[in-house]
Amino acid sequence: MAHFDKVLIANRGEIALRILRACRELGIGTVAAHSTADRQQTHVLLADESVCIGPPPAAASYLNMPALISAAEVTAANAIHPGYGFLAENADFAESVGRSGFVFIGPSPDTIRTMGDKISARDTMQRAGVPCVPGSDGAIGRDPEANQKLARQIGLPVMVKAAAGGGGRGMRVIHDADKLEEALALTRQEADAAFGDATLYMEKYLGGPRHIEFQVLADHHGNVIHLGERDCSMQRRHQKVIEESPAPGISEAQRAEIGQVCVDACQEIGYRGAGTMEFLYEDGNFYFIEMNTRIQVEHPVTEMITGIDLVRAQLAIAAGEPLPWRQDDIGLDGHAIECRINAEDPDRFIPAPGTVTQWHPPGGPGIRVDSHLYSGYTVPPYYDSLIGKLVAHAETRDLALARMRNALAEVVVEGIPTNVPLLADLCADTRFCEGAVEIHYLEKRLGL
Ligand code: ADP
Repeated sequence: MAHFDKVLIANRGEIALRILRACRELGIGTVAAHSTADRQQTHVLLADESVCIGPPPAAASYLNMPALISAAEVTAANAIHPGYGFLAENADFAESVGRSGFVFIGPSPDTIRTMGDKISARDTMQRAGVPCVPGSDGAIGRDPEANQKLARQIGLPVMVKAAAGGGGRGMRVIHDADKLEEALALTRQEADAAFGDATLYMEKYLGGPRHIEFQVLADHHGNVIHLGERDCSMQRRHQKVIEESPAPGISEAQRAEIGQVCVDACQEIGYRGAGTMEFLYEDGNFYFIEMNTRIQVEHPVTEMITGIDLVRAQLAIAAGEPLPWRQDDIGLDGHAIECRINAEDPDRFIPAPGTVTQWHPPGGPGIRVDSHLYSGYTVPPYYDSLIGKLVAHAETRDLALARMRNALAEVVVEGIPTNVPLLADLCADTRFCEGAVEIHYLEKRLGL
């Protein structure tokens, strides 16, 4: 198999360790590019080489494009894996990586650019035959009357969203046409401040949908497959807390139908690499909301039920290998659930960095732990609060949930507060245990 000699990992935390492990299995050398705050990260300690790329703030390190490219140059890496977050969906970065003679492990800069703008993503997907949430035809203008008319046409409530939005930010629900202008002004301001782009669009606000997304893999030779779906409806502030695959109640016929829509769309746009097409699902219908052009936090649940290593697939695709699977080769075995463990105050949900005095990961059949923690590790205050992912796989959803409850009861994290009690509570929640919940379920349950 063709592969790289050396890959630079332009990320941190659990995903950096995940990438390092995949490289190791393939005999690929690893370079950990890290900030001064992350010298003691597990993947930095394990990597063949490490390069400090700047001070703690992400803007000066993990988002510092020249520093990352220099690090690839001085270590003579062949390719850069961006992980998720940071520069993973930055088309300019992907372009500079390519221009500097390295392989960016992800789709082309053009694809990233198109999908990074939610308006052009919607437009592209609509043209490729993917059903989207009913909404404005492109960006909305500044004429209050036209906007009111549009909102009534779409049907209130509507959601205004920033074209450049991400991470659950830059969106607002509007129930009342009279409040539209005020809400638009506020969202424009926020979008401009957060993303440097005030462009907005409007969508029908769905009252109680589920979030269901499809995993795709596409190579450089025109082969595209999907690996089924994940249900990520357990969310707080539009951020996923628990994910699972397959999505409860989705029939094989529906999976095959929407999966094929995703495959056709990826073929149409010349997609390559791993990607996720996100949908809202309501009353039996799927509505596309956005595409993520990178590996996702929740990728392990798909790996557990398909037996396919998605990070290894990313590395192989980027090296020019054809996909070794056809759609018929993909089977879904049992059920997998993932819980995201965050270093956070369990009542107020604010990040709670600090030193981990004790770390005892759970185990047993069907349990997987993706985490960079160790006893004595200090969670720095500068980055995302995700400290690990607990994944439970079993023949059935009930058994996967039982395994997850065991695992959550076994896990020990001392020294810092975490959301483990909340996760344990949710995995014992009657409604959730009976089947899927909708995207507002968690916030309603928390009384938010
Ligand atoms: P981001 O890129 O910030 O993650 P998304 O467009 O993927 O934003 O939306 C994130 C979440 O926001 C969805 O999972 C869903 O919970 C909610 N959401 C987005 N669009 C709508 C909509 N039209 N109606 C209801 N909820 C929505």
